[in-house]
Amino acid sequence: MSHPSILVVGGGAAGMMTAVTAARAGAPVTVLERLDRVGKKLLSTGNGRCNLTNVHFEGKNFHGGCPGFAVDVVHRFPPAKTMEFFESLGLLCSVEEGGLVYPACGQASAVLDVLRFEMDRLGVKVHGDAEIQRVSPGRNGFEARVKDGRAFSGDRLVLAAGGKAAPNLGSNGSGFEIAKALGHRLVEPIPGLVQLNLSAPFLKHVDGVKFNGSAAVTVDGRVLREESGEILFTSYGISGIPILQLGRVAGEMLHNKKEVFLDLRFFPSMKTEDVSAMVADRLRRRPDRSAEEAMIGTVNKKLIGPLLRTAGIERAGEPCGRVTEEQVRRLSALLSRWRFPVTGTQGWLRAQVTSGGVDTAEIDPQRMESKIVPGLFLAGEIIDVDGDCGGYNLQWAWSSGRIAGLHAAAQ
Ligand SMILES: Cc1cc2nc3c(=O)[nH]c(=O)nc-3n(C[C@H](O)[C@H](O)[C@H](O)COP(=O)(O)OP(=O)(O)OC[C@H]3O[C@@H](n4cnc5c(N)ncnc54)[C@H](O)[C@@H]3O)c2cc1C
Repeated sequence: MSHPSILVVGGGAAGMMTAVTAARAGAPVTVLERLDRVGKKLLSTGNGRCNLTNVHFEGKNFHGGCPGFAVDVVHRFPPAKTMEFFESLGLLCSVEEGGLVYPACGQASAVLDVLRFEMDRLGVKVHGDAEIQRVSPGRNGFEARVKDGRAFSGDRLVLAAGGKAAPNLGSNGSGFEIAKALGHRLVEPIPGLVQLNLSAPFLKHVDGVKFNGSAAVTVDGRVLREESGEILFTSYGISGIPILQLGRVAGEMLHNKKEVFLDLRFFPSMKTEDVSAMVADRLRRRPDRSAEEAMIGTVNKKLIGPLLRTAGIERAGEPCGRVTEEQVRRLSALLSRWRFPVTGTQGWLRAQVTSGGVDTAEIDPQRMESKIVPGLFLAGEIIDVDGDCGGYNLQWAWSSGRIAGLHAAAQ
């Protein structure tokens, strides 16, 4: 019996992994990609270096309606297998701090190249400028119709069209419309791994200021998630890896019309009383010195004015001797926890991933096959699974693509 022919909708990480796996199993594979070429998003990953996986993988690194679903799938094709796969294609991998894996050559383009070469070698047909608008299942497989009227048919179809994040790199949400039309339920997609908009009058002044500290998303007086590392103030609010990690939960809460706050800590490893003692000592040691001068050396100079003003010390040049006990107390409190209202996220254009997507309850994790439409498989970001920063989203794309490819190609 010959292998079933396979249509893969979407030539991103998940689609290319699906294509290579299915073609290696002997199936004829056609990839349909809406952009003029495959893998455009891969080129932008990891700041052009592509953080392709992470050797440390735990359940808590994945999110969605059912995180256990992702863990189950990733266990079937774990990070070690991803590295083995890429090394077999000639891509040397290097493991960096935190278990983050990058191509040793430091170029995301090399990851795309080896995938393209392998698809070429296996005879995978790739059609660019082929945005699929409709997928129709029939008695003899599937028909995928392109916007311009072209039609492709295959025995089985893998939907790997990504989510809605970074639409300039290909994934414009059209995959969700196809999944819905096929009868799948969507968990409302929202931007994940995304920068936050804050409300503060001095943001333009501190644009570009970085600090090593921690940030926590707080709702109704409860800390929902806290992350630490390098944080960056921007003209709209705040960015940096810890903030991207918080984007999902902040966005979800804003979506639920909650009042969301971001609490920043400049000295997360210091006890509150030690921070207070340090501030009091600086301000009380030399009463003639200005408050601004007294604070130099604690945080970035550009932050000192806004901190003093927020503590009620209107003039940075105010002599320390005139700073009241209450103002010292407020300044100390701000350095231990500076609270900002979160007014929004930077949205789809700047988000790195989609939270939400096709409900995992409707997909068989052993095969990545739809429980609604037999012969339809799904892989990658289109599914309600998203990962932390650090290589987990690509690992999800590789694992789910691998399983989908294997089972779609099975006779
Ligand atoms: C700037 C940036 C940096 C990132 N860095 C990292 C990183 O270093 N490590 C990490 O793990 N993750 C990273 N990610 C996330 C990661 O890139 C994605 O989670 C992953 O690429 C998702 O793979 P996918 O194949 O499911 O979707 P995508 O990569 O989005 O691919 C989907 C493909 O389908 C095509 N398509 C969409 N609709 C249709 C249609 N109707 N018909 C035909 N084709 C269609 C799109 O053009 C696209 O090529 C980053 C994301 C961004 C935006």
